[in-house]
Amino acid sequence: MIQDARETLRRVYGYDSFRPGQEEIIGSLLDGKDTLAILPTGGGKSICYQLPALLMDGTTLVISPLISLMKDQVDGLRRLGIAAAYLNSSMSAQEYRETMARAIGGEYKLLYAAPERFDAPMFQSLSEQLHIPMIAIDEAHCVSQWGHDFRPSYRQLAHAIARMGNRPLVSAFTATATPEVADDIVAMLQLREPRRFVSGFARPNLSLSVVSGVDKRRFLATFLQERKEQSGIIYAATRKEVEEVTAYLQGMDVAAGKYHGGLSDGERNEAQERFRFDELKVMVATNAFGMGIDKPNVRYVLHWQMPGDLESYYQEAGRAGRDGEESDCVLLFEPADSSVQRYLIEQGTGGEERKSVQLSKLHAMLNFSRTQRCLQQFIVDYFGEKDVPPCGKCSNCTDKSEPVNRTEEAKMALSCVGRMKGRFGVTMAAKVLKGSRDKRLLEFGLDRLSTYGLMRHLSERDVADWLYWLVAEGYLRLSEGQYPTVSLAVKSLPVLEGRETVMQRVRASVRKSEAGHAASSPLFDALKAWRRETAAAEGVPPFMVFFDATLRDIAGARPSTLDELLQVKGIGAAKGERYGSAILSVIAAVAAAGGDPAGDDGDANVAAAGSRPEVWNGRSKTGPIRSGRVGSDEQSHKTTLELFNSGLDAAEVAAERGLSQTTVESHLIRCAQEGEDLDWSRIIPSEHEARIVQAIQQVGADRLRPIKDALPPEVEYFAIRGVLFKHGFTKES
Ligand code: ADP
Ligand code: ZN
Repeated sequence: MIQDARETLRRVYGYDSFRPGQEEIIGSLLDGKDTLAILPTGGGKSICYQLPALLMDGTTLVISPLISLMKDQVDGLRRLGIAAAYLNSSMSAQEYRETMARAIGGEYKLLYAAPERFDAPMFQSLSEQLHIPMIAIDEAHCVSQWGHDFRPSYRQLAHAIARMGNRPLVSAFTATATPEVADDIVAMLQLREPRRFVSGFARPNLSLSVVSGVDKRRFLATFLQERKEQSGIIYAATRKEVEEVTAYLQGMDVAAGKYHGGLSDGERNEAQERFRFDELKVMVATNAFGMGIDKPNVRYVLHWQMPGDLESYYQEAGRAGRDGEESDCVLLFEPADSSVQRYLIEQGTGGEERKSVQLSKLHAMLNFSRTQRCLQQFIVDYFGEKDVPPCGKCSNCTDKSEPVNRTEEAKMALSCVGRMKGRFGVTMAAKVLKGSRDKRLLEFGLDRLSTYGLMRHLSERDVADWLYWLVAEGYLRLSEGQYPTVSLAVKSLPVLEGRETVMQRVRASVRKSEAGHAASSPLFDALKAWRRETAAAEGVPPFMVFFDATLRDIAGARPSTLDELLQVKGIGAAKGERYGSAILSVIAAVAAAGGDPAGDDGDANVAAAGSRPEVWNGRSKTGPIRSGRVGSDEQSHKTTLELFNSGLDAAEVAAERGLSQTTVESHLIRCAQEGEDLDWSRIIPSEHEARIVQAIQQVGADRLRPIKDALPPEVEYFAIRGVLFKHGFTKES
């Protein structure tokens, strides 16, 4: 039987193989078993009932709730040469009668109908006049009150099927069913010893991230800067936010369009078409956008805030990467989003039972936003698919950070908020901690608080980020409403009393800043001045002391202990020992002198956001989100560096990676150019170094060959290239 199915798949549909789950589902139906199949959107559900229908005698009935989709399906089938028709309320009485007559004549292999069409008498009369081998129910979760889209017409349908005299095989399909909803579907439709299949929920080409405690606009600016040519969707909860985000993007010259229920049909269609044709790069939309849009090259979906349930979230996020290419799904999460959702549910019109269902779905969504598990695994698990390995690419899988003790900073922030007695927002609290001379702050006399200026060594922005992080972790609370005020949460008390510590995950290596985005800051400048002096004293070029990138990372991370300093990329034990205390005193001196002047890096400085290290945010800003493909050539030289740093020499790395040794050597030089620290002693044998330098001084640095010829034969090209770079003779290209 399954052999016939495979043959039909090839002959009728032109596909070579089944997608995950399809073969098992089709096999089960051909065995005559009631079947419940849960496959994600785009997973290929239609074939699972169409194909058995083709192999069975008689006419299969397909119940489908959406008129437009029904029509698409029937058109598609007809193009494949399969006789199919639909019955729905968009037809004239005449069309309806004709279609019924043909159906009863046995002309169709598949007959689609809306659930409303089918009451018990209708089923009875059809099944008396027509051989019906199977009823396939699409969007079967609509039958369950526990689902997110309950429809009473489905409930009636279920009763009608149950009462049929000669009940056919019943199959049910849905893209979204938790195990409880699946149980409910089975019970409501009275499936008989059904087989259940759940598969295909993992989307290996999606990198999921949850990002919290950030300034959303700044995050968005940086995020889009790295994705200028890509197509993406930004989902926001309200029309107002859609308008605001669209205006913000248009203000930055991003080709952004908007889509929400407040626009006319014409405006919406136009936006959708322009997006489809890539005239608009970014679509900012409410959840009204997406039904029926099937754009394959959406490279990212960014959620401006948390939706009310994981079903909606994954459906929307899943619109990224339909073409199978690597794509990013980013959820910007703030705990306040959950109070908004809770409020909406409580004010909603649903009954008590419905409300409690929605609240528990909201909880699952919140757990997802806060979990440290693999995000892909979490979702797949939620839909009942087991034994899926961690994805290795979500923001949790890639979070290699170590928790760092932040109790002292937490106490400063918490006691300041406590003293402000819940009357001000995060911005004002940040100003107080920063020691700002803001006019309103002075008017309220907030400069007289003992916590005034406690965190003056940080920028106001960083203090605000820190406060938001404390909110995300539940130490602080934000009130509801338009101007949320911040106050202490119960969880803060043990911290303030010194009974509990606050740990924050800080990524060990700070994301390297993009070229051209170099932000200067007083600390960075001070570190450069120190480097100049040190290099002069040692008689070496400054980059031999530290690369710019390293200094920038130090300036961003503001380490206060040697251990923290060693976390910064580019500082090994040797350099730490040699320069560590000097660097720490530079940092302390700048902090004591007032650090970054207030407001020097406010919202206007969007470009600098890209180079801002993310150490103050537990949940990284853009860190885990890659713009390229994983393991693509873009990162190949980094892989080489990792292997080299793990102890292999260039030849061994070449063998390990199946690359030529020259390529490996070029990779390493490129890493050095990009600011990575290389252990030069492994590349340049110390006994050769001086002679190579001499040779270069004699014959010039323009070409390698004359240098090589001026040296003993055992000196390798790689050593020469190393010296050229290390001693700053030339920019290797
Ligand atoms: P769903 O209803 O689950 O959202 P569809 O049934 O519309 O998904 O299928 C999504 C797309 O995948 C369709 O274009 C379909 O033709 C295609 N498809 C389904 N099964 C296969 C297969 N085995 N091989 C290749 N493409 C398939
Ligand atoms: Zn993962």
